[in-house]
Amino acid sequence: MSALGKKTLLIRNGTLIDGSGSPAARNDAIVIEGNRIKSIGALPPDVHPEDHKNVEVIDAAGQWIMPGLIDAHCHVSYGYPSVKGEGKGKGPTRPEFSTLRSARSVQKVLRAGVTSISVPGGTWFTDVGVRDAIRLGLMEGPRMFVAGRMIVTYGCIEDDEPSWEGTPEHSIGKLCNSADEMVTEVRRQGKHGVNFIKMADSRSGESQMLARDEIAAVVGEAHRRNLRVAIHSRGAGSTRAAAEAGVDWIIHADLATDRDLEAVAKAGIPILPTATFLAVVIELGGKVGAEKVQLDINRMKRHYDLLGELMRKSRTLGIKLLVGTDTGNNSFTPYGELHAKELEIFVNHGGFTPMEAIVAATKHNAYAVGLEGEVGEIAPGRLADVIVLKKDPIADITILQGGRHLSWVIKDGKIVDLGAPEDLLAFQQAAE
Ligand SMILES: [Zn+2]
Repeated sequence: MSALGKKTLLIRNGTLIDGSGSPAARNDAIVIEGNRIKSIGALPPDVHPEDHKNVEVIDAAGQWIMPGLIDAHCHVSYGYPSVKGEGKGKGPTRPEFSTLRSARSVQKVLRAGVTSISVPGGTWFTDVGVRDAIRLGLMEGPRMFVAGRMIVTYGCIEDDEPSWEGTPEHSIGKLCNSADEMVTEVRRQGKHGVNFIKMADSRSGESQMLARDEIAAVVGEAHRRNLRVAIHSRGAGSTRAAAEAGVDWIIHADLATDRDLEAVAKAGIPILPTATFLAVVIELGGKVGAEKVQLDINRMKRHYDLLGELMRKSRTLGIKLLVGTDTGNNSFTPYGELHAKELEIFVNHGGFTPMEAIVAATKHNAYAVGLEGEVGEIAPGRLADVIVLKKDPIADITILQGGRHLSWVIKDGKIVDLGAPEDLLAFQQAAE
């Protein structure tokens, strides 16, 4: 029995994919005490599987064991779907409703085998609240590493209102038109408990809207306060400026030239391409027609193709790629469904092997949730976030999607009840 008075959890048999990139291997015994993995390999002599009072045994014979998935790009408090009687725009106009909805959404995320998420932007400080409620044990949910509203200047993505309206509290952008205003916003968000700062340049990368000095000012202030900085940057200029200013990771970077990517590689900064949202919109546009999707499908296709190239180039240049989906960005990206689709795209579109894609989504993604060396690998001393699958993800990477082949999800050493009432989809449909 562990010091916490909790049963020892023992996972026997099955095939272990440990997240490190080592080949899949036969598992004898993974011992979990409290919220940490105590040992892997041979069954330790002091652990007795027949001691049902103190040991809970999961038999994974014929199954596959791997670290819990990490989605490095998942929004929790965007305003989709809109609710009757609410104002239009990206945020439901009440923080109370947004918080409750977010709390429900993360249940679906966890039950899809996603034990950690990085949240690059949302409304109010909803995500901070949901993160803390999970951390304090008020409810179940994935580990969350969260940003606040994105720092933008006039004309950037998420500066959607006319200038006389600015960026209202329910929007996901926060206008700051000088380095001083940006630094003040970093301090404000830090005070309210964010883990990182999200900056955002232009929507499609056609022009650079954040100056290198402004990015550097944010990085300086954020790093002094132990906050990280991520930036939405599709353009070449903004990607180079972000690399030179020392941001912690770059989201998209699809228009970066080879020389810009060399600068990113030299700075050792990872890129989070995020092709899933684009793939979903392109697929849907093909099915229901572009006008129904209300997004520029040709622009989406261009970004998608460029991201495939980026994935292949990054692999050659040694740029680490993070795996994220933009789930929750839109009603096309429902919670629980798509968190592993990016791995399929890494394999089919970006030239990764299934094992490389798994390592990216586990071991490497730990960086995007501030837990490198703590989650993302099954090894002694790591936090016990583990999933057990009925099918082999190396043979077919798509089986990781939607939680359909999961038999167990363990987060922080606790077994998640996959049979818990699950009516969020019905709720979503009713609300639309
Ligand atoms: Zn996003």
